[in-house]
Amino acid sequence: MRIIFLGPPGAGKGTQAGRLVNYLQVPHISTGEMLRQAVREGTKVGQQVQLDMKAGRLVPDALIIAVTQERLVEPDCAKGFLLDGFPRTILQADALERFLATEGTEISGTIELRVPQDELFRRLMARAQKEGRTDDTPEVIQGRLNEYTQRTQPLVEFYKARNLHFPINGLAAVDDVFAEIQSVVARIRAGQPQPKTE
Ligand code: AMP
Repeated sequence: MRIIFLGPPGAGKGTQAGRLVNYLQVPHISTGEMLRQAVREGTKVGQQVQLDMKAGRLVPDALIIAVTQERLVEPDCAKGFLLDGFPRTILQADALERFLATEGTEISGTIELRVPQDELFRRLMARAQKEGRTDDTPEVIQGRLNEYTQRTQPLVEFYKARNLHFPINGLAAVDDVFAEIQSVVARIRAGQPQPKTE
């Protein structure tokens, strides 16, 4: 299965993605994690993305598309993967679609964790305080949420138009959210796409 996990920062994507890759036995492709590692290791990519990441801005499309494609051709991705944090723009989604087509494959489904903006802001502020993330000022957090709304939210329509989109209520308890994800996976497996009208 080739699944895209969509959802704003603070929606609980990390936790659910961890469970889902365990359940599906596919690699967890977290572009945020890959970039953080590049920054830690001081690679060329790491140096290029450092400032954008610190400011909570998206890194350039061309760069993240190249990084992701390099990862997706690794042999472990042949059996499927969970993309977490990519694509984040329409340009990235287009590039991904074209790349998979050249490989003779396509996305099986996109799962979107939905949480209202005010709750996201509250969660991200609490996390910044608890974990001492001093870079996560209210302005940076709001900027990240705005960037999601403006640049990533349009992907919902992109994948809806392809009948691949499955929204999930991210406000429920962690176990309930995961149960819903499992039932969506079962529907994707059975080839029962979401009705276009949702
Ligand atoms: P995340 O852990 O997914 O929130 O990603 C952390 C940071 O990495 C983001 O705030 C962006 O600066 C950068 N990043 C990760 N994935 C992407 C992507 N697909 N497009 C652009 N920037 C990204």
